[in-house]
Amino acid sequence: MNQELNFTEKPHCRYCEKPLLGRAGKIFCNVDCKNNYNSRIRSAQRAEENKRFPQVIQTIKNNYRILLQYDLANLKEGEVKHVRKDELRSLGFDHRYCTGAVIENVRELWKCCFEFCWKEEMNWLTLKYSPSMNNRYNY
Ligand SMILES: [Zn+2]
Repeated sequence: MNQELNFTEKPHCRYCEKPLLGRAGKIFCNVDCKNNYNSRIRSAQRAEENKRFPQVIQTIKNNYRILLQYDLANLKEGEVKHVRKDELRSLGFDHRYCTGAVIENVRELWKCCFEFCWKEEMNWLTLKYSPSMNNRYNY
């Protein structure tokens, strides 16, 4: 029901549409209806936003789940893991999508999916755990 078009009728709550009692200019029954109404609007806005970039977000989430399987967080400082590209590809890993990128030692490009980072070699990726690398900005 569109409240703006019904000026002659008694006002109704914008959320539950019950007739409003009390002071003039009221648009909600109570604070719960106001919060529910605003929450419904925010939720619709979020759903619209998600429609615009679902594939990228989904791919990054999938990459993260795959990298979690390699238990990188338990590597020692400076330790890396080498994983064949075809193995990662078969799991659905997509190296094009990352959350951060850093160049180290002049020519090493490291990409990150949050705290998990990788460097591309010929047939494998070198993986490491580096929470700070994802947030670094030295491109
Ligand atoms: Zn209400």
